[in-house]
Amino acid sequence: MRQSRLFTRTRHDAPADEVSKNAQLLIRAGFVHKEMAGAYSFLPLGLKTLNKIIGIIREEMDGIGGQEVTLTGLQDPSVWEATGRFDDEAVDVWFKTKLKNDTEIGLGFTHEEPMTRMMREHLLSHKDTPKLVYQFQTKFRNETRAKSGIMRTREFIMKDLYSFAKNEDEHQKIYQQVADAYHRIFNRLGIGEDTYQTFASGGVFSKYSHEFQTITDAGEDVVYINKARKLAINQEVNNDEVRADLNVQEGDLEALPASEVGNIFTLGTRFSEALGLMITNEDGEKVPVFMGSYGIGPARLMGVMVEKFADSKGIVWPEAVAPFKAHLVGLNLEDAAVREYADGVYEALKDNGIEVLYDDRDARPGEKFAESDLMGIPYRIIVSRKTMEAGVFEIVTRKTGDVRSLSEEELYRDFDAIPE
Ligand code: ATP
Ligand code: MG
Repeated sequence: MRQSRLFTRTRHDAPADEVSKNAQLLIRAGFVHKEMAGAYSFLPLGLKTLNKIIGIIREEMDGIGGQEVTLTGLQDPSVWEATGRFDDEAVDVWFKTKLKNDTEIGLGFTHEEPMTRMMREHLLSHKDTPKLVYQFQTKFRNETRAKSGIMRTREFIMKDLYSFAKNEDEHQKIYQQVADAYHRIFNRLGIGEDTYQTFASGGVFSKYSHEFQTITDAGEDVVYINKARKLAINQEVNNDEVRADLNVQEGDLEALPASEVGNIFTLGTRFSEALGLMITNEDGEKVPVFMGSYGIGPARLMGVMVEKFADSKGIVWPEAVAPFKAHLVGLNLEDAAVREYADGVYEALKDNGIEVLYDDRDARPGEKFAESDLMGIPYRIIVSRKTMEAGVFEIVTRKTGDVRSLSEEELYRDFDAIPE
């Protein structure tokens, strides 16, 4: 993409009312637009990154047999009344609205109820399980606090997966497969090392649920971790009984701020019983389906990555989610010969399958470099009269600041081999 055609501008200052680092940097770099507190729009660069995160999650969900759907955001009260969750006392984040005829409807904050009811039409027998159904779908939540930028918003895309098993045994296998897939996702996103599968409060059907908490100063939660054992306990369950269960002493746990990037939960038969999702088992009896639900917040992950990897100059994207792999920065472009040469490099990079943003504007080098630093694209390739005459390129790695010189042939051949 040519930067001269990009409609977004970078800016020197973040809006005065923006308190979170992730939103400040993302707004300044032109990745997101703040519409109001807790509501952000994704602009071309931001959408590219968000979609890369979504793409990685999708690959891993498909890899464990997930089938993708999109359910409507509009919620029929009757299905929620059947589980007691339409009540504002029971759920304090509902956005509700009315049809023209005054009928009340909800805007979905999660999808257990409609998903369970829908599956009644598709799951009839134990032979129909296991099934994993997931979506990337917009949730609405009337969150009280919205101070963490894109990490907590009132409208956000959630990856929510629901599993349907014939019994608890079958469920446990799925639960473990999803947990493993989650670890692969966080590893691929470059936050695996700092992301802990924590013990969190469970429900009627399991003593614990699990959250995936990434250690970051911007986190709203506190987790108690034992690094050596890669063990972590959520604050709400860090008590004598749980520590005994996990064979860990209070003194061996370190309290750290963290952000919940995902969770996995055994629902059991709570929803299937309430909504009549029944199958016939091997003995011909009608039994409720044993369910699980599994969430991930792609935008919260994006915010966490900004918070963790940014430096004093701006954002630093891991390669897996950067909007482009290379930022080709052209200098001396007022000289027609240099411009022609730089345009050629741009075309050649694209022909070699390298995702590249080409700063083809007439601007001062200092300005271009500062903007490039702010945007956080992993590799900057500088082309100028000097590099043209020398027949080499200067490649700057954003994360480390390492500079190396490559010939044109080396550039296309070795680009993938440059360490981040
Ligand atoms: P929290 O405790 O942070 O409010 P939650 O327990 O309400 O999270 P879930 O309902 O399980 O979260 O949602 C699944 C995932 O969706 C979370 O793990 C998180 O990554 C993401 N998420 C939840 N709420 C928000 C929000 N307001 N904005 C952005 N992402 C969110
Ligand atoms: Mg919440």
